[in-house]
Amino acid sequence: MKILVVNAGSSSLKFQLLDMENEQVIAKGNCDRIGIDGHASAKTFTGAEYNADCNFPTHTEAFEKLVEIITTGDTKVINSMAEISAVGHRIVQGADIFDKSCLVTDEIIDQIDNLAELAPVHNHPHALALRACKKVIPADCPQVVVFDTAFHQTMPPKAYMFGLPYECYRDYHVRKYGFHGTSHRFVSGELARAMGKNPEDLKIVSCHLGNGSSITAVDAGKSVDTTMGFTPLDGVVMGTRSGAVDPSAVTYVAKKLGLTPDEMSDYLNKKSGLLGVSGVSSDNREVQKAADEGNERAKLVSEMLCYEIKKYIGSFAAAMNGMDAVLFTGGIGENSWEVRQGVCENMEYLGIKIDEELNKNTRGKLMKISTPDSKVEVWIVPTNEELLIARDTLAIVEASK
Ligand code: ADP
Repeated sequence: MKILVVNAGSSSLKFQLLDMENEQVIAKGNCDRIGIDGHASAKTFTGAEYNADCNFPTHTEAFEKLVEIITTGDTKVINSMAEISAVGHRIVQGADIFDKSCLVTDEIIDQIDNLAELAPVHNHPHALALRACKKVIPADCPQVVVFDTAFHQTMPPKAYMFGLPYECYRDYHVRKYGFHGTSHRFVSGELARAMGKNPEDLKIVSCHLGNGSSITAVDAGKSVDTTMGFTPLDGVVMGTRSGAVDPSAVTYVAKKLGLTPDEMSDYLNKKSGLLGVSGVSSDNREVQKAADEGNERAKLVSEMLCYEIKKYIGSFAAAMNGMDAVLFTGGIGENSWEVRQGVCENMEYLGIKIDEELNKNTRGKLMKISTPDSKVEVWIVPTNEELLIARDTLAIVEASK
């Protein structure tokens, strides 16, 4: 059984083809610069590579290229698309309509498109990719959608409501949705397995730290609270996103700089965070390097990041009345020993003690980094959202037979 996983953006179509017999990636790539000019790159498990400028006026041409790459030339890994059992799509915003992955119908594509107001950058391109895919793949090849928000649909109202007038929720659907749900679901499941425990018996704080970062309280396998909110802007300081700020600061700065709401949104989403505070880069490695070389603003934002994560861990331990494990994932969580150490130091009161040497020497692999006497286990758990999308896709297609 082969499953194609697609992650479509406004100008890109990232894909992975997985063989579900052994859950291995057979080919992966990106059809990029859609609507601009076009570039495609891909790699297969045999080491063959594709790299070429293309013409991608729309997602349909990008999809046709994807098919060409995996069915012809050096990068041919299947004879035809008929070998693909299903296509799984990552969808950012499912709002409170979708609480789990599901088979795609025309009505569901329209519903995803209609949610574009809540996720303008993502949902419309997702709908374009779903329609393009339908045109290009065989008619009997099912498509499945997997939502970043679905895992968080188990949050209780007290966690997802904002203290705004009720009509904001009732009329405009303004509430916390949470994101990175596919990752939090994957890594919390992997951790339960690694700990040899039933997810039902665990309270986990899952820290997904990458260009975008979110932290989720997972109680008995369910998300009960998370740091990203109505959009992926809320929570901890990120690469270029501010994270949570006093809303009054937003209106004040918009007035001071004479920014429109859209310009202010850009300011918060693209010019803030590690980049905005440090003035160095949005990339944690660059910021860490600058901090190590004595750059005070880089040091400051690194300290802010660790401090904010630490506070959310404490608040989620309070929300869940305890925690059994903290996990780190994402580019920063898996790789940066400095951030993990900064977060975990002086956390003995909460029962967290990491083995500093082990933490320093571990990157990108499933590993417990807490000391044997630490009441709370601390783990690094590499994420794999594509694999979970492929697993969901396979399960849904099998169940629908
Ligand atoms: P995205 O959220 O876009 O998926 P990633 O999860 O790949 O991003 O995370 C990207 C971040 O991870 C960047 O800030 C990068 O600097 C950081 N990162 C990647 N490798 C390392 C490393 N070896 N040490 C520290 N930070 C790292």
